Amino acid sequence: MVHFVGAGPGAPDLITLRGAELVKQADIIIYAGSLVNPEILALARPDCRVYNSAEMTLEQVLAVMEGASNADIVRLHTGDPCLYGAIREQMDALDKLGIPWDDTPGVSSFCGAAAALGAEFTLPGVSQSVIITRMAGRTPVPERESLEQMAQHGASMAVFLSAGLLEEVQASLLRGAYTADTPAAIVYKATWPEERIIRCTAGTLAAAGAEAGIRKTAMILVGGFLSGSYERSKLYDPAFTTEYRRGVEP
Ligand code: SAH
Repeated sequence: MVHFVGAGPGAPDLITLRGAELVKQADIIIYAGSLVNPEILALARPDCRVYNSAEMTLEQVLAVMEGASNADIVRLHTGDPCLYGAIREQMDALDKLGIPWDDTPGVSSFCGAAAALGAEFTLPGVSQSVIITRMAGRTPVPERESLEQMAQHGASMAVFLSAGLLEEVQASLLRGAYTADTPAAIVYKATWPEERIIRCTAGTLAAAGAEAGIRKTAMILVGGFLSGSYERSKLYDPAFTTEYRRGVEP
């Protein structure tokens, strides 16, 4: 059986309890070596066979899975496998091969980056939506989802896979609803020991990234949620009645 497991954003103790248990029991681990913290592999049995998928094609990954379909195989993806994990093509191929699989979620790096910043994406009066997206690069993005299009909303935004394209990201954001002084941040290797936080604005994103020398493994966050102003929540307002608590006017 194949277990897809989210390894979390980097810190080895940010894998889930279920994910860690699967890693401990695995006969074979195929991990996304470009981003998964190899310290997680220290949980594996000494006789576990380990493959780094960064050096493999889909066909090679599937060949390992097919060759050991009775074994417990962990396919370890960074963050949560459901985002930019290329898991669907593996699941569909496994279904064709009649090999069962399951999927254990993980902490995505957009959450790790928010935690590093102490930020809340969904601030009342500021934004109640998070756009998870990426800049088109060597791999395309559907035209209607171009960063410029997505930026029309001015919502809280987490831009993956685009730290090497900061000039283009900045230009696209500014063609949308963000202005040069909309707060932004680049979080490099969130939750890793070498984590770095660069706070900037939509208008200084490219210069800030260039100055810090950041080209990869970074999350770009942009939106009013990174500023100081917002409304307090209704949920915890003394005057607001909820299913669990009667509101009282001050
Ligand atoms: N499935 C992963 C994303 C894989 S795509 C997840 O849920 O996080 C790889 C991109 O994720 C990187 O280019 C970067 O934008 C982001 N990323 C992954 N780990 C990161 C980290 N620790 N800090 C900041 N960004 C990270």
